[in-house]
Amino acid sequence: MSSAAQHTILIRNAAAIMTGARPLDGFPTRISGPDIRIRGEIIEAIGQLSPLPNEKIIDATDCVVYPAWVNTHHHLFQSLLKGDPLGINASLTEWLATTPYRFRASFNEQRFRLAVRLGMIELIRSGCTTIADHNYVYYPQMSFDSSAILFEEAEKLGIRFVLLRGGATQTRQLEADLPSALRPETIDSFISDIERLTAQYHDPSPRAMQRIVMAPTTVLYCISPHEMRQTAAAARRLGLRMHSHLSETVGYQDSAYQMYQKSPVAFCGEHDWLGPDVWYAHLVKVDADEISMLAQTGTGVAHCPQSNGRLGSGISPVSDMAKRGVPISIGVDGAASNEAADMISEVHMTWLAQRARLGMDALPNFRGGSYEGGANAASVEDVIHWGTAGGAQILGLPEVGQIASGYSADIAVYRLDDPRYFGLHDPAIGPVVSGGRPYLKALFSAGQQIVHNDQIKDVDLMELGFETRAAVKAILNDVA
Ligand SMILES: [Zn+2]
Repeated sequence: MSSAAQHTILIRNAAAIMTGARPLDGFPTRISGPDIRIRGEIIEAIGQLSPLPNEKIIDATDCVVYPAWVNTHHHLFQSLLKGDPLGINASLTEWLATTPYRFRASFNEQRFRLAVRLGMIELIRSGCTTIADHNYVYYPQMSFDSSAILFEEAEKLGIRFVLLRGGATQTRQLEADLPSALRPETIDSFISDIERLTAQYHDPSPRAMQRIVMAPTTVLYCISPHEMRQTAAAARRLGLRMHSHLSETVGYQDSAYQMYQKSPVAFCGEHDWLGPDVWYAHLVKVDADEISMLAQTGTGVAHCPQSNGRLGSGISPVSDMAKRGVPISIGVDGAASNEAADMISEVHMTWLAQRARLGMDALPNFRGGSYEGGANAASVEDVIHWGTAGGAQILGLPEVGQIASGYSADIAVYRLDDPRYFGLHDPAIGPVVSGGRPYLKALFSAGQQIVHNDQIKDVDLMELGFETRAAVKAILNDVA
């Protein structure tokens, strides 16, 4: 093979290309192409292009092309914890005790690795090549390095990986009551591990394939207010972004007002945890003042509508937040609270739920209403932006997530050959509006083709199914 810098690939005759640009930003949100040239790791050109001698050609006739998705919040270890009958009808706090915390101690190295691989493969099959995983499988004297496993599995599959290094210095009551309780870390060991990981993996460059983020699991509960300031200072000293869970349910509001007499977002602001280098998962329950604080500080959100729906938490007002200037991205969250942890399912849900949410507020005219329904809450282009370039911006990867020359060649080529897509007047919108899983003709990650004709290189799905079924049985045996 020729050197990466010389190597070119031509994606030809696409039916439509969605770019991932933000609507009204001045860049086109879709282009007719029909061709895209990749040189090395980069998109070199888009337009009517003639093949170069010996160039590899991907025939995209009747295909729609999207930027590869960027998932900004996940817990990959939960991929072996789907649909736990004891947690299937539980809301957040009860579900945390029932499912992730009950099973967490039964994750040894082999099961953790298998869960990670399963979750990554699910995401890749939806056209995702950038995964930010909020890993909180850390405790003193662990027998394996969960961070290293995540980076290793991502590298084997050829994708970009951002480790949101979770953890806790305080034990939540629900955890202490469990027989398999796992001990928290000290703040010093938490920060020194972040320093170790930063030295080993963190690449600050604009298309980096490996990043570290300071991400105590839930700032309100898992670390003290003083430690919030310590972690923020350490992150900014190391040049790391910051992430945590916030305001997933009304429970956060109760806790923040009860403990600190202020809103969760105001509390975070007073402890150095707001800013353009910070994003939170969920932000379902936020009031107008909190949205203003998020907008003024440039603090972002990882919107996880399927998990929020599954746990009955609510629907985050991301359309309102986007209009106010809050950076929006999309995450699938862990599969223990989302049995469809792939990006196509997530963006389909985003598109529907924002419209439904606005529609819920509609009033009849005679009661002072001014509109009929919420179909203008989020366009397909808004949702694609949030799931691609919007996510990349939140992760601090300004040359990722968009189909434009000079950007990382992270490209999904979908062939809409399932009956659910037949009859579409505008095939370009099919993956978002129809959902399902379109046939992935090709997927590129930083210029490398990692999916060929819907097959991931070196992945045997039958074998994966066999291994994961056996692992689920073994985990259930452990906690029985
Ligand atoms: Zn989460």
